[in-house]
Amino acid sequence: MRIGQFTRSDEERPWAGVVREGGVVHLGEAGLAAGVDLPRRTTDLLSEWYWRKKAALAIEFAEETGTSAYDPADLDRHAPVGEPRKVICVGLNYEDHAAESDADPPDEPVLFAKFPSAIAGPDDEIAWDPDLTEKVDYEAELCVVIGTEAREVAVDDAMAHVAGVTPGNDVSARDLQFADEQWVRGKSLDTFAPIGPDLVTTDEIADVHDLDIWADLDGERLQESTTANLVFQVPELVSFCSRAFTLQPGDVIFTGTPAGVGVFRDPPVLLEDGSEITIGIEGLGELSNRCAHR
Ligand code: ZN
Repeated sequence: MRIGQFTRSDEERPWAGVVREGGVVHLGEAGLAAGVDLPRRTTDLLSEWYWRKKAALAIEFAEETGTSAYDPADLDRHAPVGEPRKVICVGLNYEDHAAESDADPPDEPVLFAKFPSAIAGPDDEIAWDPDLTEKVDYEAELCVVIGTEAREVAVDDAMAHVAGVTPGNDVSARDLQFADEQWVRGKSLDTFAPIGPDLVTTDEIADVHDLDIWADLDGERLQESTTANLVFQVPELVSFCSRAFTLQPGDVIFTGTPAGVGVFRDPPVLLEDGSEITIGIEGLGELSNRCAHR
């Protein structure tokens, strides 16, 4: 299933929809018509027991009756998960990126955080005040979305707690990141965690550790790798996190970026007012955001 969040007008709050060939099925609306209760937001949907079965019933009903399916051209897109309780990031999780950062790959995952309020969607601008930061950088990342609560789970059991994956951009104000003792400010500016376009459920992906990943800035490819190069794979990351804190439905883990980020290029390449940055992952789609000073 490919789950996005959408609105039909500015007055509406985002609702979870399943992206199908025949259009976007509004899950709550189709569910109501089909007699099953489905929450409006992805975070709440993932928390429901049997949500996959209920969603399948709603989709079937929508397709049979031709109701509650919308043309994507008539909809605004939002982050597929709008209000995660946690946004966890993994540092130095590709060997080539560790090398360009002049660091050894760590023995255990290195975690840091972005505030959940930094989440943005595919139609949002990445916006910042040029008086606050002049060094805004991109990081192409595979993002993991937690499906069921995970507390002290074993590596072998970890994938059962993952709902799906989506492309993400770990946008980073390098001047703030490197000036501060720790990174949360430089990583958490409003709009600095765009994810999407869709949450793609794990059953749709043969192997999350065999997907091409890239970043294009104004059409020029600046990052190009594969998730096969992750130092710590998704089950290890989920298990590792869950030993320290409970992972909850909708929590997002940015799994780290490969080589080619702007700050370590010679000369450095940074995001500017008007830049268009696109993060793509094979089979998951592309996340494009326009950048703007504000
Ligand atoms: Zn990152």
